[in-house]
Amino acid sequence: MTDPSDSIDGDPTPKRERVSVPDEVDLPRLLDFYELQTEAQTEIHEFYDNLRDGRLTTTRCTDCEEIHYPPRIVCPECTGDDLEYVDLPHEGELFAFSEVRGGLPLGLAEHDVPYVVGVVDLGPVRLSARIDDASYADLEIGDPVALKVVEIDGPTDEDRVFYRFEPSKGL
Ligand SMILES: [Zn+2]
Repeated sequence: MTDPSDSIDGDPTPKRERVSVPDEVDLPRLLDFYELQTEAQTEIHEFYDNLRDGRLTTTRCTDCEEIHYPPRIVCPECTGDDLEYVDLPHEGELFAFSEVRGGLPLGLAEHDVPYVVGVVDLGPVRLSARIDDASYADLEIGDPVALKVVEIDGPTDEDRVFYRFEPSKGL
């Protein structure tokens, strides 16, 4: 601790203790909102395996035929657990959208804002996703959007992917 009376030759300003902050903030596990994706870590690993292969899929109950999103391990309609993975369309329509301008959690890159998030209507299901390559002002409800698979950089060594959408090109 610095003695507050420890000042330089009559200078009334006391010497201050100098503290440092870390050069880097390790991303706390709770703030990494991308799920771990291997068989050892999640029972919906098949969803991520398919996504890694470029296919957007989800579960369908073989008993009541309900299609769920996100994928389930038990059917929320009939509690059956005989589910199969089915392909979802890779193109849909923008059902709703908004823009994120700030307030990002610790560890997320501030340079990423603003970005657009939306609800995409794929027909069988609606899902929320980030909408890349568009600004809020460019978009309208009903705009066609297409799937885009991205690879996630860190903070684990695991090879992870996730889905986003972007405005459809050349339709
Ligand atoms: Zn069911």
